[in-house]
Amino acid sequence: MNIHEYQAKELLRKYGVAVLQGGVAWTADEAGRIAASLPGPVSVVKAQIHAGGRGKGRFEGDSSGKGGVRLARSPEEAAEHARAMLGHVLVTAQTGPAGKKVQRVYVEEGCDIARELYLGLLVDRGAGRVAVIASSEGGVEIEEVAATHPERILRETIDPATGLMPFQARKLAFGLGLKGKEVAQFTAFVTAAARAFVDLDCGILEINPLVVTKDGAVVALDAKMAFDDNALFRHPDLAALRDETEMDPRELEAAKHDLNYVALDGNIGCMVNGAGLAMATMDIIKLYGGEPANFLDVGGGATKERVTAAFKIILSDPKVEGILVNIFGGIMRCDVIAEGVVAAAREVSLNVPLVVRLEGTNVELGKRILAASGLPIVSADNLADAAEKIVREVKKAA
Ligand code: ADP
Ligand code: MG
Repeated sequence: MNIHEYQAKELLRKYGVAVLQGGVAWTADEAGRIAASLPGPVSVVKAQIHAGGRGKGRFEGDSSGKGGVRLARSPEEAAEHARAMLGHVLVTAQTGPAGKKVQRVYVEEGCDIARELYLGLLVDRGAGRVAVIASSEGGVEIEEVAATHPERILRETIDPATGLMPFQARKLAFGLGLKGKEVAQFTAFVTAAARAFVDLDCGILEINPLVVTKDGAVVALDAKMAFDDNALFRHPDLAALRDETEMDPRELEAAKHDLNYVALDGNIGCMVNGAGLAMATMDIIKLYGGEPANFLDVGGGATKERVTAAFKIILSDPKVEGILVNIFGGIMRCDVIAEGVVAAAREVSLNVPLVVRLEGTNVELGKRILAASGLPIVSADNLADAAEKIVREVKKAA
């Protein structure tokens, strides 16, 4: 689960991570009032969307050349910037061409930047540990630095038994070329950030840029935080930060039914039980020249209701031109699945080709139920057969 920059900064502040003062605004007037309450003559108005690259982004239909991060020299100017952003669609390198509508802005103190650095924490699955990544190349995408100047990326992994050690924090500080009191500021910063990461069950915490100000302070200018969904049950307060307007509506609906659904770009909807089988199904669809429209794992104990919900979600995607159901009945019985598929197909008055591959317990009974339904369901005998058939059916229908 992702959250907004201002929410991440509020959380980080509680852990003692250095962030600037600021407040969130939903209207231009509010933005002006917040700007007036901040210390210093300048403020920065920042569009809050779940995507980076806002500074270099552009608003749809706006030719001013200004992006989603704007400097204001007065509260009036801050309000004006907020007005230009709120309710408008911001397109950045990360939003895709459709962009995202800005519904809130963060108004923050302006800061005199001396250097922009990069700091990121993530779960390094290879090492089985949380890793801290730092680079002297801040403000640009870290993937780019990794590709062009890998030597400029510093990395320390955290031993879960000790947490981030002071010597590791200092090593990073020296590697970044920090001097004097900046070193102590940085070590306090990264230590607090690491504590927040573990405590909050983060998946990603990215501070890009982390800046050294002209007076030698080390502060977070940007903050991207994402949580491990599987740990959210431990953090009801964090779950409340969810911004449903930023989420894919189909993914949201799927979550309500405990379905693991990820929207993709293709036209063949997939309904599969088990994540591994779902991955294999997507692979084999591609092998036969098709493109999956989604990943969907209905889970091991899918009921008729869940199968119906899954069908509705798949079909609500206008790109879907055919559905492949691939179920291995281990714990689940194929006859129950077949009944679910038939009921769902009737309920949603299915109007695209449907190929069903069933295997496992009661498979013969399941196939008889499909055949007796009178619905135009194409039955398949194995995975390859199923993939070939759905790709063919979709091409035929097109
Ligand atoms: P994004 O990564 O989405 O473009 P950032 O928060 O990183 O958004 O902001 C982009 C750039 O804007 C930063 O690299 C920094 O140069 C500048 N910036 C952001 N916040 C401030 C601030 N409070 N004061 C001064 N400059 C800022
Ligand atoms: Mg940034």
